[in-house]
Amino acid sequence: MARLVMKFGGTSVANIERIRNVARHVKREIDAGHEVAVVVSAMSGKTNELVGWCRDASVLHDAREYDTVVASGEQVTSGLLAITLQDMGIPARSWQGWQIPIETDGAHGAARITGIDGSKIIQHFNERGEVAVVSGFQGIHRPTGRISTLGRGGSDTSAVALAAAIQADRCDIYTDVDGVYTTDPRIVPQARRLDRVSFEEMLEMASLGAKVLQVRSVELAMIHNVKTFVRSSFDDPADPKPGTLICDEEDIVEQQIITGIAYSKDEAQITLRRVADKPGVAAAIFGPLADASINVDMIIQVVSDDTVTTDITFTVPTADYERAKTILEGVRDRIGYASLQGATDVVKISAIGVGMRSHAGVAARAFRALAEKGINIRAITTSEIKFSLLIDAAYTELAVRTLHSLYGLDKAA
Ligand code: ASP
Ligand code: MG
Repeated sequence: MARLVMKFGGTSVANIERIRNVARHVKREIDAGHEVAVVVSAMSGKTNELVGWCRDASVLHDAREYDTVVASGEQVTSGLLAITLQDMGIPARSWQGWQIPIETDGAHGAARITGIDGSKIIQHFNERGEVAVVSGFQGIHRPTGRISTLGRGGSDTSAVALAAAIQADRCDIYTDVDGVYTTDPRIVPQARRLDRVSFEEMLEMASLGAKVLQVRSVELAMIHNVKTFVRSSFDDPADPKPGTLICDEEDIVEQQIITGIAYSKDEAQITLRRVADKPGVAAAIFGPLADASINVDMIIQVVSDDTVTTDITFTVPTADYERAKTILEGVRDRIGYASLQGATDVVKISAIGVGMRSHAGVAARAFRALAEKGINIRAITTSEIKFSLLIDAAYTELAVRTLHSLYGLDKAA
């Protein structure tokens, strides 16, 4: 007997028929003798609708009431799945975040889990043989007693955190794809499903644009060493495929140099021309942006030839682009730059692989391959296990395909 957490995303619970299908997946594990806690998302599209309603009601709404509204989508699906399981003769009950409780900090709309008391769920396993159907995405901020939510995609994080709290043997994240791919299969049909991917690589992939898992969920899986699978709810419930295992690097036998290519269109470029080349300038630029909670990602400062002025280029999330420009225009006198140029039609392409630690010249090959295709690189950043390139958005598909085959990731024809 094992203890499992099974998480089902919005498309997997989109209607009653699909919820019934989810119940069949749960039944398979119950029939195999396992203890199961299920974490559910809201029906697909529901959270967007709820968010929209809050905006329509008031653009500047109270974040606590926003959470009250958007947390309701998961309450509906948890109840519906419990009803469906009961209808199949499987004892089940729903649990809202506050009932368990799943405690969070007070950052409404983007709260972090601070603790989960798994004892009641375990007690119900023992005493009633009952499936726990848990609403994902939500918790309670204990000091105020208010409902909180974990940020978009947060049900993944609920699932992994719950798995750690109840010492589950495994956390299965069921979604509409059958695992983690070397890149987005909609762009590269030759993309391959990975049998295994390391926590660190998955963390980079999620941070750099791959949308399978919420970043925080991967962090938690890594910290608590939760054996996490990404798999499809659309597989036959009687005979599902295992999906992709996210695990320790040491547990991956055949390690490629590059494991995946990610891309993110959520980047905008800002260039400040002829900034005074003197101490304190970078602080004058990035300080006000940090104060406004704008995340600056890639930064390049050109070494000046006149030692008087220099150019600085960096990227910010597209959503913060206008705000960043306004802030920089406001402190123009303090920074003293000649002009501000910006571009939103850019994309960040990243190659990720732990093999980069031990191989030289990995990125250089990419620069050459992209140059041969006539793709200009606007900015570059590297870290131990990834490099990222900022290019014109029009070349997204060509660049992703080029790097995917360059590093031998295409599946055999
Ligand atoms: N329903 C929430 C969202 O759409 C949480 C989730 O699905 O993970 O973001
Ligand atoms: Mg999701």
